[in-house]
Amino acid sequence: MKYLDEYRDPVLARKLVAEIARVTTRPWTLMEVCGGQTHTIVKQGIDESLPAGVRMIHGPGCPVCVTPLEQVDKALAIAARPDVIFTSYGDMLRVPGSTTDLLSLKARGADVRIVYSPLDALKVALAHPDRQVVFFAVGFETTAPANAMAVYQAAALGVDNFSVLVSHVLVPPAMEALLSSPRNQVQAFLAAGHVCAVMGWTEYEPIAERYHVPIVVTGFEPLDLLEGILMAIVQLEEGRADVENQYARAVKRDGNPLAQETIFRVFEIGDRKWRGVGMIPASGYHLKPEFARFDAERRFHVEGIDTREHPACIAGAILTGEKTPLECTAYGVLCSPQKPLGAPMVSSEGTCAAFYSAGRGIGLEPRPLPMVAPEALR
Ligand code: SF4
Repeated sequence: MKYLDEYRDPVLARKLVAEIARVTTRPWTLMEVCGGQTHTIVKQGIDESLPAGVRMIHGPGCPVCVTPLEQVDKALAIAARPDVIFTSYGDMLRVPGSTTDLLSLKARGADVRIVYSPLDALKVALAHPDRQVVFFAVGFETTAPANAMAVYQAAALGVDNFSVLVSHVLVPPAMEALLSSPRNQVQAFLAAGHVCAVMGWTEYEPIAERYHVPIVVTGFEPLDLLEGILMAIVQLEEGRADVENQYARAVKRDGNPLAQETIFRVFEIGDRKWRGVGMIPASGYHLKPEFARFDAERRFHVEGIDTREHPACIAGAILTGEKTPLECTAYGVLCSPQKPLGAPMVSSEGTCAAFYSAGRGIGLEPRPLPMVAPEALR
């Protein structure tokens, strides 16, 4: 398929793997902070094709996974109300709260609907003026412009039966939180291409300089990831710590100014709790005071919910790259995509789910592809 196959070419992939092997002289640890990238890396065995000592660790890059348990419980409390139509992207419906999930609630009669855009949720509100319509506004910077636009439109149209349950998180503060941890292992980052398509990469420049860590804006296809890894390792080997852009076909340095303007008309930056990680200062979007009337937490008085993770789940260590799913005693035994116990197993983009769907550690390991010997490509 055009525009996809050309980024999945196995001959070029093997050349990139060989080039990575050629430039690498010592062990390095790299992290991607995007669930889509994690999925490709694990599914394609990219991490297993790297030279000995070069490790890919998988960061908190799955927005569904990092949505805190209490936000899910708040969604459940709101969706259970008979006067509410609760709307959400489909991937949030199976995320476990403390006692149930949105899909089970729907099966028991709650009016929970899947939408493909927050503007569709706004249309539902316009069509049902006698009901309260709530949209679960989850995601990184990528989904924020559309969610902001829905609130902005609701205000402009005077729609007072529409509100949003906001759970937006931001990538750069999470990277800084990881780098400032005494247990940090990350020596270079692959930054998520779609986040940078919206925000650009200027936010990453002070991080690269302050922590002396290379950051490569990277796409999502196998060749994108291999090239991003190569660019990061070349920087590490040369002792550089720059922000570079592998994903030039989609990302500009300043991102998308109109999308950013839309976000900051409606949202302001504030502290956010990340599932499995905890509170990170200035790491999320909140509605500005002039849009507070669209805040579902205030409208339905669910601010005070507090919860705890399942005791067997080591999601915090998974989401910070300190451990792999294979080190969790519940992995594949008590916890699977059909019955997830914790954050990284709930979405197909989560690290535990990516390992599980690739068959890792559950007796279904794919056979490695026959590779061309690196020497033969020099
Ligand atoms: S396998 Fe399940 S229980 Fe273990 S860390 Fe992953 S999500 Fe948590």
